Order: sequence, then C-alpha cells, then structure tokens
Amino acid sequence: MPEIKIKLSAPDIGEGEIAAVNEVMRSGWLSLGPKVVEFEQAFASYLGCKHAVACNSGTSALHMMMLTQGIGPGDEVITPSFSFIASANCIEMVGAKPVFVDIDPISLNMNPRKIADAVTENTKAILMVHIFGLSAESADICDAADSFGEIPVLEDACESLGATAYGKKVGDGTSGRAAAWGFYPNKQMTTGEGGMVTTNDDDFALNIKRLRNQGRNPESTWLNHDVLGYNFRLDEMSAAMGTVQINRFDELMAKREEVAMHYNSRLRPLKDSLILPMELAGFTRSWFVYPLVLRQGWDRDKLFNELAEKGIQCGKYFSPPIHLQTFYKEKYGYKPGDFPITEGISNQAISLPFHGNLDAGEVDYVCDAIEELIKNSPDKIRQG
Ligand SMILES: *Cc1c(COP(=O)(O)O)cnc(C)c1O
Repeated sequence: MPEIKIKLSAPDIGEGEIAAVNEVMRSGWLSLGPKVVEFEQAFASYLGCKHAVACNSGTSALHMMMLTQGIGPGDEVITPSFSFIASANCIEMVGAKPVFVDIDPISLNMNPRKIADAVTENTKAILMVHIFGLSAESADICDAADSFGEIPVLEDACESLGATAYGKKVGDGTSGRAAAWGFYPNKQMTTGEGGMVTTNDDDFALNIKRLRNQGRNPESTWLNHDVLGYNFRLDEMSAAMGTVQINRFDELMAKREEVAMHYNSRLRPLKDSLILPMELAGFTRSWFVYPLVLRQGWDRDKLFNELAEKGIQCGKYFSPPIHLQTFYKEKYGYKPGDFPITEGISNQAISLPFHGNLDAGEVDYVCDAIEELIKNSPDKIRQG
C-alpha cells in the first residue's frame, strides 16, 4: 500500500485540551469528579437543552436511550439502513428489531414519506439519524410519528453536532424526546472516546444517569442499585478535553466550513460527474465528512483505489448499508434490492479527506487528482 499523504480525518487538538487533560492527571481525580459535570453543563448550554448526561461512547448513549424508552423483545424501532451500524445495533442490544426505511436520495436521510410502510402494531419508536451533518426532515418525521398514535421519536445525532433545522439546533430536545451524541476522533468534536445523551425530560435524564453508573440512583448511597445498570461512565480526562472542545466549537466549525467551501468551489465544475453535498432550504449542515456521490457511469471503488495510490485516504460511508451487513443479512434474510435508494447511494458514495486543519494545498492535491482522472484518464474509473 502506498503511504498515506492525506488522512481521511484528524482531530483538532490545541494546547488548551492538552493543558486540561494534564491538569486532571496532576489532580489524581480521574473518575466521578467535577470535570464530567462541567462538560455536561457546557454541552447543554451550547445546545440550549435542559439535560446533558455524558457517557463513554455514542453507542452507549444510543443503547441507554433504547432502554430508557422501554424498548425490549418483541418491539420494533424504525430507522434508516444508510447509517453507521450502531444506529441499528442499539436496537438489537435491547432485544428489539430494527425496521429499516429507505432514504431520500437528496438529503441521504430517512424518507419521512416511507415511514407509513414500516409501521406495525409492534412499532415502539422511531430512531431518526442525522447523517453527514445534515438534519433529517425532523418535522415531517415527527408528524408521521404523531399520525400513527404518537410514536416516540429518538435521535441519533452523533454526526450532526452544530447542525440546524428550522432555525433550531439539532438535538436540542424540542424535536425528538432525546438525542445521542458521540465524540470519537473523527467527529466534529472529540474526547477520544465519549458520548452524551441530551433531553428536556427530567425522568429520561435521571434514568440515563442510573444506567451509566451500575443502576445506581444519583441521589442514593454508593452501594444501592435500583435497576440493572452498566459501567458507561466517561472519565475525567476525556470530560476535561470535551469542555475545551465544546467551548471552541464555533471555531472548530468555522475551520471545517472553510475546507468544505474550498472543496465545493474546486469540484463544482465537475458536477456532470459528481453530486456535491446537498443543501436543503431551512437547514444548515455541520460539516462532518465531505461526501460525494458519483453519477452513474463512474466506479466508486476504482476511484477510491486510484486516490489511495496517490496517498489520498477516502472513506466509503456507508458501504455496505446496515441491512447488507453479515449479521443483519443472516438474521433477517435481507438481500440486495430491498432498499434500492440506500443501495444506489451506498455503491456510489465516497467521502474525501476532511478535517478542519486540511490546508488549501492539500484540498487542491485531492481535487487535482480527481479532476485529472475524470478529464484525462476516465477509463481508469469507468464502470464495467
Ligand atoms: C459515530 C456514530 C455513532 C457511534 O458513536 P461511537 O462513539 O463510535 O460509539 C453512532 N451513530 C452514528 C450515526 C455515528 O456516526
């Protein structure tokens, strides 16, 4: 394999994060201390929601949301297949069944108009996912949920911190009942590993606090456990890092925005071959990745390999989609053709190297390589 010159993603860590983590290490107070509380307050205040409860990953956040919503064996939860696998795994983890709906080819998010086909008498929730930093059509999804007898709506917001829809921040607790966030190093902000649940619902937040800490009620004494719980706690180093990241989140977003705008301006002339990230009226994207969809005629895997040859690391988000992952195929018998829009996008989507510290020269290097292939060596990346 050729050496990677331009990485798919990279965290943006400043001296502030380093100092904050060092301070925790010097203090000797590494867990269940003040830093998690500080991070939760800063996060809730950024979103403008009532509760933020930190945990050790986005997947744990989703898992605890399912438990708190009371989802269990025999229940069904509606969610898109075009997502990271944790969006469906969290449903399996509580013994319930994910029921997939196809996506909208423009937004790449769950198509609200297809929810009706997925609802059954066992539907207990809709988990809407905001993919690639763009909000799902949450108003339409919530309307659909209401029309089928007030199905609760939960949000997987792991890819969309800072996105807005209808003038409000995604995951502020006014759309879904609760939202899950993840802080893995490729996300808009990171704590290494880490996650959060946000909600405006007091009981929901209290239950998340119990579940993350061995079922212990936060108000009770150490060895009293009310419910079956987990150790999903976030440590103090990670939390201290998270506070610094959320406090500089506008700066982090602005840097990513600038890189995305540079990609847009360089790639727009190639739009007969490439579909650039879409904009939706009334929604603002929080740049998570830079996702392209190749038009028919171009082979995504060939382009991916050609770029890899030049040291450009790309991503195939999300290929295969969840319903065609081995576990789901074997358990439910899914086959190609079950969700045609999802599969079509999944086959043609490629994410370019993307983070806030990519410089203009690096973006140009990537765009030059793509342009060169399309214009001068099209046979290398043609389908068939
Ligand atoms: C990253 C991500 C998650 C999981 O987050 P982890 O912190 O890696 O567990 C869940 N859902 C989506 C859509 C994600 O992108």
